Amino acid sequence: MNRVLLLGVPIDPLTRIDAIVRIKNLLGAERQSHVMTPNNEMLVEATKNPAFRSVLQKSHLNLPDSMGLLFAARWTHQTLQERVPGVDTVEALLKTISSEHPVYFLGAAEGVAQQAASALQVKNPHLKIAGTFSGHPNDSTLIERINAAKPHLLLVAFGAPKQDMWIDQHLKNLPTVRVAMGVGGTFDFLAGKIKRAPAFMRSLGLEWLWRLLQEPRRIGRIWRAVIVFPVLILRFGSKAR
Ligand code: UDP
Repeated sequence: MNRVLLLGVPIDPLTRIDAIVRIKNLLGAERQSHVMTPNNEMLVEATKNPAFRSVLQKSHLNLPDSMGLLFAARWTHQTLQERVPGVDTVEALLKTISSEHPVYFLGAAEGVAQQAASALQVKNPHLKIAGTFSGHPNDSTLIERINAAKPHLLLVAFGAPKQDMWIDQHLKNLPTVRVAMGVGGTFDFLAGKIKRAPAFMRSLGLEWLWRLLQEPRRIGRIWRAVIVFPVLILRFGSKAR
C-alpha cells in the first residue's frame, strides 16, 4: 500500500496487527532498521528542523501514533487505516517476540526503564531482556554498554526528536541491533508512572487533553499538536513547508 505523505513526511498506512508483522520481519532481516512513531508535534518539528525531517524521510517504518495524522490524511484525500500508538505496539510486540531476539530498554528517568522491563517480564516470561539503562543521550558509555548486552531490538526513550536523532547517528555502531525504535513516553506508561487516557478519550482523539490534565507543563507541546499542526496541514497538506 502507498505511503501517505503529510508535510513532506511519509507515513505507513498499517493496522496495529500489520505493524507487528512488519517489525518482526525487520527483526529477521539482514539490514538494520529504524522504526519511528510520528505524531502531530513531530511533524511540526520536522517543518523547522531539516535534519529531523530527513531522519523521518529515511526511517524504514513510520507508524501513525496520533489521531491527528488520521484526520490530516483524510483532509488531504489519503487513507491511514488506524492509529498505531507506540506504547501499544511495544506491548503487543513484546508479547509475541521470540526469545531469540533480546530486547534493550534505553532512556527515561532513573529506574523507569528497569521498572518497565520488569513489568513486561512478569507478563511475558519468555521475553529475553538484554539490559536496561536510563542514560543521557550524550553518555559516552552507551554504545559500549549496549554492544556488551548484544540486543536485537533496541527501544530508545529520550523523547522526540532526540531519540530518533540518536538512533540515526549511532545505529551503525551497534552491530547486533536489527531494529531500533524511538518510543517516547512508553516506559513511563509501562512502568505505571503515567496513566493512559480512558478508551473513550483515545477513540475520540482526545488523548492530548488527558495528558494536558495529567502534565500541565506539556501546554507548549499540546499547542503545537492541536493548533499549529492543523494550521500547517490546511496550508501545506502533504507537501513539505
Ligand atoms: N527523556 C530522557 N532524556 C531526555 C529527555 C526525555 O530520558 O533528555 C525521557 C523522558 O523521561 C520520558 C521520555 O523521554 O520517559 C519521553 O518523553 P516525552 O514526554 O517527550 O515523550 P512522549 O510522551 O511525548 O512520547
